[in-house]
Amino acid sequence: MQTSQKQNIEIYNSLSGKKEKFTPITEGYVGMYVCGPTVYSNVHLGNVRTFMSFDMIFRYLLHIGYKVRYVRNITDAGHLENDADVGEDKITKKARLEAIEPMEIVQRYTVDFHNVLNTFNFLPPSIEPTATGHIIEQIELIQTIIDNGFGYEVNGSVYFDVHKYNQTNDYGILSKRKLEDLIHNTRELDGQSDKKNPQDFALWKKAEPTHIMRWPSPWSDGFPGWHLECTAMSTKYLGEYFDIHGGGMDLKFPHHECEIAQNKAAKGKDPVKYWMHANMLELNGARMSKSTGNYINPSELLTGKNNIMSKAYSPSVVRFFMMQASYRSVLDLTDNGLLASEKGFNRLMEAVNGLETLTPSKESSKNTKETLAILKSKFYEAMNDDFNTPILISWLFEGVTIINKIKSVNETISKDDLKDFTALIHTFVFDILGLENNSASNTGTDKLSGAVDLLIKLRQEARANKDFAMSDKIRDELAAVGINLKDGKEGTTFSTN
Ligand code: AMP
Ligand code: ZN
Repeated sequence: MQTSQKQNIEIYNSLSGKKEKFTPITEGYVGMYVCGPTVYSNVHLGNVRTFMSFDMIFRYLLHIGYKVRYVRNITDAGHLENDADVGEDKITKKARLEAIEPMEIVQRYTVDFHNVLNTFNFLPPSIEPTATGHIIEQIELIQTIIDNGFGYEVNGSVYFDVHKYNQTNDYGILSKRKLEDLIHNTRELDGQSDKKNPQDFALWKKAEPTHIMRWPSPWSDGFPGWHLECTAMSTKYLGEYFDIHGGGMDLKFPHHECEIAQNKAAKGKDPVKYWMHANMLELNGARMSKSTGNYINPSELLTGKNNIMSKAYSPSVVRFFMMQASYRSVLDLTDNGLLASEKGFNRLMEAVNGLETLTPSKESSKNTKETLAILKSKFYEAMNDDFNTPILISWLFEGVTIINKIKSVNETISKDDLKDFTALIHTFVFDILGLENNSASNTGTDKLSGAVDLLIKLRQEARANKDFAMSDKIRDELAAVGINLKDGKEGTTFSTN
């Protein structure tokens, strides 16, 4: 459900280090680019967290009425293992180890990535471009950077001249680093590099004879540097200046810093109005990361087949756990945290499901009316404040309290208010937070008992109205499908054949 009410949102812009009023470049439209995965292995839950943060942001922007073009790329070429632009590329290395084609690696892990995101109920982005599908655009971009005097070729490779760029621009503007400090802190690479300066980064690398993923270019048969694809693809699909660029905090430097430099060197302008960085998921108090081995994969968490957690967790419990922290806070994945989230999630779902069974009264009580108005404005206020999902969730639990009061007949709600309130809760819980009603407590058995309990209630009402024909019909027809009712002192219970 989309809201027709205009919302004023504030976004924390990593570039300015402040929350800023969000004013899109073109009214009514938002262009958002998020760096996608390098598809050389299964995504871990840290990766999932970053993409989930932007999925929630995408969902909210859509809800408040923006036409959003959300571009999230697939990095399927050219990421070297080492930031210093030496070493093997991760995809080729994996392909060599498994003795298969690099494109088989790419296909396998792209499919895995999509399966994982489907499991966690992600919306697909508007465009999902691949690096290998945009080699021509990357070559053109390199040529422009060379023509503008910010790139140089050595032995078939092309590098970005950071020192030259920094004479007229600020290299470090996003990550708040100073080139002098970087110079001080970079170790020389024993002369193995063709670069003029160690801070320069590769735009194009000449391929060694054994390197499989290669393309012809004016400089050599080779492959693009790892920062280039995002500049090429964001410009192609969102233009030279677009609204939001996102990614994990770890991409701020060097990746995003280099993107800014490439854009400015090629087009002379800053590419992005709002830079957004999602914070890291930790495990055992340290950043989750493939390279250190400190990670857990989604399938291991969802099946319970791991040595870290006490049980399996449903995708919505994991999503709820992640949404309970601000996207800008570090979050530690722990068994206790997940257990607490599971309890909270089940309580929330019980209340959401309970909305359908509430009996409306002629009028809403004063307290109900006031609470519903406050909740609506608080839900939006929380999300407008830099997508503050933990605050939203705390207000959703205020919603749970009022639902329970209406259930126990301490408060009343009118038919119209119930309809509006149900729509509001569904919008924030399902459409914006992206949760699904798939908690452990919502199994088929629970659904069956919910349905039979409803029929038992209707039978009691029929009896109270002396409509014994109806009451017998309910009992007999349930018995015909193998569900037997038993009337006792404590009320009516049921058993199945
Ligand atoms: P990669 O495939 O390594 O480029 O990572 C894909 C995305 O996941 C990037 O936006 C990273 O910033 C993000 N990411 C990597 N590790 C973590 C982590 N531990 N927590 C949150 N996001 C992460
Ligand atoms: Zn990127």
